[in-house]
Amino acid sequence: MMRFNVSLVRRILQRALLFFVIAPTPLLAQAPLGVKWEELTAADFANAIQQSEGTCILPIGILEKHGPHLPLGTDLINVRYVSVSAARQEYAVVFPEYYFGQIFEAKHEPGTIAYSAKMQMELLQETTDEMARNGCKKIVIANGHGGNENLLPYFAQTQLASPHDYVVYIMPLPEHLDQPGRPSVKDPADMHAGETETSHVMVSRPDLVHMDRAKDESGADQKRLNLPDTLYTAIWWYARFPNHYSGEGAAATKELGEFDMKEWTNELVTALRAVKADSESLKLQNEFFEKARHPLETK
Ligand SMILES: [Zn+2]
Repeated sequence: MMRFNVSLVRRILQRALLFFVIAPTPLLAQAPLGVKWEELTAADFANAIQQSEGTCILPIGILEKHGPHLPLGTDLINVRYVSVSAARQEYAVVFPEYYFGQIFEAKHEPGTIAYSAKMQMELLQETTDEMARNGCKKIVIANGHGGNENLLPYFAQTQLASPHDYVVYIMPLPEHLDQPGRPSVKDPADMHAGETETSHVMVSRPDLVHMDRAKDESGADQKRLNLPDTLYTAIWWYARFPNHYSGEGAAATKELGEFDMKEWTNELVTALRAVKADSESLKLQNEFFEKARHPLETK
């Protein structure tokens, strides 16, 4: 049996206390910086910009119906999940929740917030201008919503209208998820709140998936227009999917969700690395803006 040595115990406790009193400063200083803009202190934000080499992500989603079973914020929830995971692997600062994209095609459904085209563009411009003023000289707009896929490249094109001291990069919705090993997707329509997207939310926010309601409405293609593929008209989506639901949410699986979210995250990590290594875009932009001031002298 060991003898209980009171003075020895007291000495150990005193040393432990001394350690905790002295140690916190260096320990806290080494804690990794968070990636979410809104969770950083002002001083930590300045360090974060330095650590990210001025690389920031603006995840953009929308507020719109997602079938009968998914939340209105699905697109932003998913793209923020991917952005935060990617930024933790390749450090970048992630802008707060941004829902202000293009969604006129769902104005007939409850809960849709559809800002005017002018507002969408002005808010994006002021947001990226303000991000850049705070040191984000490389801004990756990561898209989570199909209805933004035309808006965002157009926004990027308009950055050449006048000089900017920062570069906007667009990361579209992932197109190459279909890698070897991906669980097969049963439904070919599957464009909105269907098998794939429901699987993604099963990973990003499983508590918000109401699987028991996934069959309450039809997500089948109603093919109500008879036009060649070469023609575009805005009502095409409503013509095919009037319930703002395309595919079969009930077919979703967590396995598919896990595969896709990992792949999507990897794509963004690759993009972040490429953006950090890119020293040409800003140089070429500056050269372009300089020439654009006196085009007659351009040879
Ligand atoms: Zn969606």
